Amino acid sequence: MSTKQVALLYHDTQRLTRADVDLIQRALQLQVDRDFAPAWNKSAVIGVYDAAHLAPIDSWKIFIQDKEDDVGFHCLQNQQPYAKVSANADLPEVCKVCSHELLEMLIDPEGNAVKLGPSIFWPGKVVEYLMEICDPCQEAEYQIGIANLAVAEFVLPAYYDNNGAIGGASYSNRDSVTGPFTVNRGGYVTWRDPDNDTWQFAHALANGLQGPINLPGPPIIAFCPGITARRRWVDEQSRQHFKEFIEKMSPADREDYQSFCAECQKGRGTKANDSCSQAKP
Ligand SMILES: [Zn+2]
Repeated sequence: MSTKQVALLYHDTQRLTRADVDLIQRALQLQVDRDFAPAWNKSAVIGVYDAAHLAPIDSWKIFIQDKEDDVGFHCLQNQQPYAKVSANADLPEVCKVCSHELLEMLIDPEGNAVKLGPSIFWPGKVVEYLMEICDPCQEAEYQIGIANLAVAEFVLPAYYDNNGAIGGASYSNRDSVTGPFTVNRGGYVTWRDPDNDTWQFAHALANGLQGPINLPGPPIIAFCPGITARRRWVDEQSRQHFKEFIEKMSPADREDYQSFCAECQKGRGTKANDSCSQAKP
């Protein structure tokens, strides 16, 4: 099993204390040790540091920041994976987003890993799904037993298995996902269409799957030389496109979507997921 060192850094937030971040660390470490590592055969030792220079040089940093507009993302810079998480939410939500980014970073440190799978729109067609293990179920969370903290639900290897789960295996840690390459309400998936080298995504509303939504633009490197991770590129592309997409929705879909976002924010105090943040850039 590969084990990475991960550093939680909070020097750019006034909202959280060291004690808050220590609680997040305990929640993440428990989730990794108990739930994630046995399923994915990857692990992490997570520490909290008062400043970046105090963290191990080769640790993967998670920066918790007040100023970050994105709810959370993970990326790669100078061959070093890192993540940024907004502190502009209550503690359980910050913990959930830290969990989301940590688990996805451990699976796909460079933001480039893909799995071949059947298109969810065109029977018989095969596409390359970006391996972002929390996105299909990004609204689902569960209590971890430390304070009132929640951590992110994540899909399991069977989710990406083209033969499906054999012998009743689960598709996600808490069984919120019911089949391979499916998307829960409020979740999304992103894929590359190898036939024409385009990126697309789909997200699920109450009335079903919305998409495919094209992410326009030339190939990654040509489009933004400083951004090498597909995930980050897709984020950049989808933010603008998402906004236009919402504007083009039917009034009924928009109402459903907006009330869904409002539900997310109730009890959370702020933006609750990528979709909500993209809808309100
Ligand atoms: Zn994600």
